[in-house]
Amino acid sequence: MNIINLNDNSDKLYYVGGVVRDFLLGKESRDIDIVYEGNAVDYCRKFGEVIRENPEFGTIRVKIDGQEVDFASTRCETYPKPGHLPAAAKFGCSLKEDVLRRDFTVNALAMRVSDGEIIDYAGGRQDLENKKLRVLHDRSFIDDPARIIRGLKFSARFGFELEEHTKALQDEYLANVNRDMCYKRIKKELEEIFGSEGRMQNAFEKFINQNIYKLITPDEVKLPDVNIEKLTCDYPCPLSWIVYAGVLGDLSILGLTRAEKKILDDAAAAEKLNLKTDLEIYKAFENASVEAVLLYAARKDEKIARHYLDNLRGIKLEINGNDLKNLNIKPSAHYGEIFDFVLGKKLSNPALTKPDELELAKSQVFSGP
Ligand code: ATP
Ligand code: MG
Repeated sequence: MNIINLNDNSDKLYYVGGVVRDFLLGKESRDIDIVYEGNAVDYCRKFGEVIRENPEFGTIRVKIDGQEVDFASTRCETYPKPGHLPAAAKFGCSLKEDVLRRDFTVNALAMRVSDGEIIDYAGGRQDLENKKLRVLHDRSFIDDPARIIRGLKFSARFGFELEEHTKALQDEYLANVNRDMCYKRIKKELEEIFGSEGRMQNAFEKFINQNIYKLITPDEVKLPDVNIEKLTCDYPCPLSWIVYAGVLGDLSILGLTRAEKKILDDAAAAEKLNLKTDLEIYKAFENASVEAVLLYAARKDEKIARHYLDNLRGIKLEINGNDLKNLNIKPSAHYGEIFDFVLGKKLSNPALTKPDELELAKSQVFSGP
């Protein structure tokens, strides 16, 4: 079997991780990882066009037959500070040391490139057959809590379950989360799992019911009644992960971008309002992204959010301040009231034309006492 043709007989080259798991499952792999038992940067640049090399990490990306392949030097790691990035203790160590630092046994399988032999130091093949996710040692989640979300991701993707002892280790960790950790990795995994299309409601239910959310907040969070997967399918949006994660409330620990912060702020501002009329609903969301409206749906009122997205979003007045001036209306605070009046009418009847709007504006000019 050959995942990619390297024309190389070295017995130091191995496929590792997801690519072997996916191969054994008969699924296409997202990316191809190969390790070289030794210095991959020196050895592997001959395989094709070098896209990028990072000698300090012992990695090199090469384009082979149009496909980008990542080669890494075997390495073992230590975690000088639990929850933070590991230190590479040694490059060019044995394959065994390299695979035993990985997250789950099913991701610790290797396959020799030269003859296709599967190398299974951790019992990953058996776990793959039994659809079980098993960590390689008891400190695994302490070293890297992001593995808990990776486990959720793989269980959602493949229908796997945590093996009993691994589940107990997860529960133990989540009962006593060490918040001094690298949240960048947590965020990346959240983006990956809840940003992908597909059946994520199941994963979200586990995320809440198994207390995985405790990685992010110590507060108690209940599963909302709303089906967020359905919302994000009905209204696709690029940052859909935040519609799920936003249910937790404050996400600042994740180090959000400005656009992500705005989603949370806009949703929170709308939640404080008691939205009744179309005009109130429109004004609450007109400058908000779809994600913010969906988060409002998840946290407060799905009906109002859907009404806005289905019926009100995108409606715009055609008249502007100049048109009012041309009607000899003196610029004043009264303009705002006139626009609101016309907009209110247009929201219930989007077919109104510019002349209709002008008529409505005029009707407001002399209607005062
Ligand atoms: P995907 O199909 O999503 O790419 P993958 O298993 O290939 O899944 P990657 O994120 O591409 O996952 O990582 C490649 C391999 O690196 C994994 O299979 C695993 O062996 C190892 N790995 C990745 N992240 C971690 C982690 N946080 N802790 C330990 N090992 C990890
Ligand atoms: Mg991968």
